[in-house]
Amino acid sequence: MAGKRLTLVKSDDPVLRAVAAPVKKPSEVTDLAENLLATMKTEGGVGLAAPQVGKSIRLFVTSAGGTPEAYINPKISETSPKQIPWEEGCLSLPRLLGEVRRPKKVTMQAQTPDGNVVTVKADELLARVIQHEIDHLDGILFPDRMDDLRNVRTISEEEWQTRFVADGDVHNAEM
Ligand SMILES: [Zn+2]
Repeated sequence: MAGKRLTLVKSDDPVLRAVAAPVKKPSEVTDLAENLLATMKTEGGVGLAAPQVGKSIRLFVTSAGGTPEAYINPKISETSPKQIPWEEGCLSLPRLLGEVRRPKKVTMQAQTPDGNVVTVKADELLARVIQHEIDHLDGILFPDRMDDLRNVRTISEEEWQTRFVADGDVHNAEM
């Protein structure tokens, strides 16, 4: 992979609480998108948003759809009435897991780094990651979405480091 690994910002960094700015020209974020993809892969996540590396712009990457993709200025145009609970984790909140209810399916419009406009109809994990990452672009972290904060689970550093490495368990995916 061509991209280089970037440093994740600390969990109390205000950039994680900022509303990120729209990207004016997709071609300007091609390198950053590559670096985000490389960082996501190295960290073992299935999604990563630009604010998580300190860049307050509307860009995220995900591999939850099977192939690694970068999405720019994403907008959700449709959500399913059906919501499902899912235990989420976040690379910006090490060792924390928590169950969040979100729509099971979403439709997203976004640009890609090569300037195309795409519509993504997503279900299950991809729908979950899209919603989690767009929340990052709006300064929202998953505990904000939890029905009951007492249900946040803290796991050991060892479990955090090892649980997501290619074991196929997508139910507890870091984003
Ligand atoms: Zn996250």
